Amino acid sequence: MNSHPFRVRFAPSPTGFPHVGNFRTALYNFLLARHYGGQFLLRIEDTDKERSRPEYEEAIYESLRWMGLHWDEKPVHQSQNLPRHQDEARRLIGAGHAYRCRCPAERIDALREQQMAAGLKPMYDGLCRDLNHPDDGTPFCVRLKSPDSGATRISDRVRGDVTVSNGEVDDLVLLRTDGTPTFNFAVVVDDHDMGITHVIRGDDHLNNTIKQVLIYEALEYPIPQFAHLPQILGSDKTRLSKRHGATGVLEYRDQGYLADAMINYIARLGWGHGDQEFFTREDLIRLFTIEEINKSAAVFDPQKLLWLNGEHIRAKSAGEVADLFADHMRRMQYLGDQTEAFFNDRRRVVKIVECTQVRAKTLDEIYQ
Ligand code: GLU
Repeated sequence: MNSHPFRVRFAPSPTGFPHVGNFRTALYNFLLARHYGGQFLLRIEDTDKERSRPEYEEAIYESLRWMGLHWDEKPVHQSQNLPRHQDEARRLIGAGHAYRCRCPAERIDALREQQMAAGLKPMYDGLCRDLNHPDDGTPFCVRLKSPDSGATRISDRVRGDVTVSNGEVDDLVLLRTDGTPTFNFAVVVDDHDMGITHVIRGDDHLNNTIKQVLIYEALEYPIPQFAHLPQILGSDKTRLSKRHGATGVLEYRDQGYLADAMINYIARLGWGHGDQEFFTREDLIRLFTIEEINKSAAVFDPQKLLWLNGEHIRAKSAGEVADLFADHMRRMQYLGDQTEAFFNDRRRVVKIVECTQVRAKTLDEIYQ
């Protein structure tokens, strides 16, 4: 244990059903919080009103509960922090670290086209940067005055040092013309307000992190530590997606996978402890450290998950498996209105489990 504060978060967007990739991030944050004696927080990034849906948010809670990844404080909803985002943007303008940009979308589009045609990276040309536009009713967005010299470095706990020269970073939009925050701005303000000490997320966010560090600096917030997790690939070595079959956590639950096996398998996608394959939840909490997170991508192998599920079924007592089996059958209703009558006779169910547990790889196979 260490005595430094350790507050981490899982920050999903409720725009789809949670998949293995999201849950790897949730699990790593959870395990590290428990390992280091810190807090694991949840933030629902629901600012995209068009794509966010309550059923997706509910599926996030349900998956976390099923996997036993209990969060420590009331979940934060990003959309509710809008006034705070706007206040912080105003503060940045006052401090000279941000400015109101009145360039209409047509000008920005034309600029982008010109730059791309000339083979340049599209960037705002800074027309409004030093004009000090007041807030007089003319539409504006708020942009960060990114430094145009020097370099920004992050010391990533997994990837090592990553440095980008500031000249390559655009004057990022912080607030859009409609007053809503952009993703990077909202994340920085919220992580700061939630007291996050370690930001642990997929390495698809590495480019965002560079931008976020510039925002941290402008806001004069302490910068958290970062750890970017390696990608998860399918068997054909492309990024894991629906094309590779089931990737939804609850799909696995419904096929009769145990939460303990899912946790064990997902933990191994980007972390290892020697060549050990089987870990209980307690083992993982005890052993999981940032130092052992891998740099290289992991391949998701459904066969291995299936094998591991069988191992977890065998590692439990027949009584424990009988209870998990009953929960599963009640959820799936394969026996319809016979379900309760069937599970009334627990001794018989335990006997069935005793006979099938030796070879079953899923709870479904106990029923079949
Ligand atoms: N909402 C983002 C996502 O789902 C995560 C942002 C973050 O972890 O900083 O990818």
